[in-house]
Amino acid sequence: MDRFQHYIDGVFEDGAASFDSLDPATGAPWAVMPMASAGDVDRAVLAAHRAFTSGAWPAMTATARGKLLHRLADLVQAAAPRLAALETRDTGKIIRETSAQIAYVAEYYRYYAGLADKIEGAHLPIDKPDMEVWLRREPVGVVAAIVPWNSQLFLSAVKIGPALAAGCTLVVKASEDGPAPLLEFARLVDQAGFPPGVVNILTGGPEAGRALTTHPQVAHIAFTGGPDTARHIVRASAENLAKTSLELGGKSPFIVFDDADLDSAANAQVSGIFAATGQSCVAGSRLLVQASVKDAFLARLKAKAEGVAIGAPGDMATEVGPLCTLRQRDRIADLIARSLAAGARLVTGGVAPEGQGFYFPPTILDCSDAPDAPCLREEFFGPVLSVVTFDTEAEALAKANDTEFGLASGVFTQSLTRAHRMIRGIRAGIVWVNTYRAVSPIAPFGGHGLSGHGREGGLAAALDYTTVKTVWLRTSDDPIPDPFVMR
Ligand code: NAD
Repeated sequence: MDRFQHYIDGVFEDGAASFDSLDPATGAPWAVMPMASAGDVDRAVLAAHRAFTSGAWPAMTATARGKLLHRLADLVQAAAPRLAALETRDTGKIIRETSAQIAYVAEYYRYYAGLADKIEGAHLPIDKPDMEVWLRREPVGVVAAIVPWNSQLFLSAVKIGPALAAGCTLVVKASEDGPAPLLEFARLVDQAGFPPGVVNILTGGPEAGRALTTHPQVAHIAFTGGPDTARHIVRASAENLAKTSLELGGKSPFIVFDDADLDSAANAQVSGIFAATGQSCVAGSRLLVQASVKDAFLARLKAKAEGVAIGAPGDMATEVGPLCTLRQRDRIADLIARSLAAGARLVTGGVAPEGQGFYFPPTILDCSDAPDAPCLREEFFGPVLSVVTFDTEAEALAKANDTEFGLASGVFTQSLTRAHRMIRGIRAGIVWVNTYRAVSPIAPFGGHGLSGHGREGGLAAALDYTTVKTVWLRTSDDPIPDPFVMR
């Protein structure tokens, strides 16, 4: 079996313990992963803190930091096929998707490489004579980056890139499910020549997570994962009043009006919910379709869902692969059973196939008569589309916003004026109009409510890893008068 290691203080090492990682396509163990203890985490945070406060990193100019990030981007680009194959093997995400996504991850590092020496302070026209006042943008310190199993290289890049551009150091905790690509990525960090301790990468479960989020030397916790874990993390952050940014789940509405191009919308909906086997935080998992086109639209979706090529994730012809874990497959089956019991109707799919691997077929549930069923309320994080209808624009908006989440949304219509009204009315961090699931390093990404807070991507993300220092400098040569002498 393959073996992977932690990367702490510039050294590759085994964890305090280890565990077998399962190949989701077969369910069989294929690699041995290190498992970080609280002690491993402590050493990693102390290394990151040392690297932040002394040595080569804090002495480096922002331009030099940018050059290191550029080198990392080149290395990611060159290693993309190997990293994609590892992610596919360890998480079951199909090779078509991992290949495209990891090549694009390099662009995130490139974007933040360019941004490193453009994070500017400011000079203030202060309302006092003989005084110069300016603001310095300084890195916050050690960042704890915690990511879930899906897209670990992408979800860590949107933290590592801006944090390094800002001058921070990091401890990155890969998910204990599918950590291979991120542990392998540590080799590229090493090759790029970052000073020891600037980026530390380990994996482990809740124990490592708790040790990281309660560590007194951690200044910012950047988390992507589920809302329940986020609550633990926010409580843990209270210990040292660390800053948090939270990218959580969603139950994103995908709204189709009767004037939409139905073929185009159907393609977007299919990739919006079945890509990554539905394990995507922005999955368009709630279809809101205007009643007059429901049958026509559902017929298109059903045909596509039933015609999809399900198979080995490493095969380029595969369109839907397995879920990452058996636990996730069981959870989805349970959520479907509870939705059916609450009045939802199965349109297609819904039953896990016999045989090896953690497969689950593309599934569509008609939830029109089940307004409070899990299919309209809970994030499944799997290939399950929940469908409801609406008659009017006002009803579409009310249903779109009838959720505790607020991450993404999609609107399909030919009407420009209606599109603008929907953009204004939808409560979500992202609105895609006549498109879905587009992302870019230039565009911020994040949500409201149970979808979290903070934004990743763009300049805002780099600024989030800085703190403002206000500097007052007196320019008069006159002595400061004694405050206790009456004048
Ligand atoms: P999760 O919350 O169970 O785990 C995420 C990470 O948190 C893992 O690394 C895990 O080990 C760690 N963790 C677990 N307990 C912890 C604790 N007590 N303290 C600190 N860390 C702890 O999430 P998951 O089930 O692995 O991933 C699925 C979730 O991630 C979904 O809700 C999905 O929507 C969300 N997600 C969000 C985005 C986004 O950008 N908004 C992107 C991808 C996934």
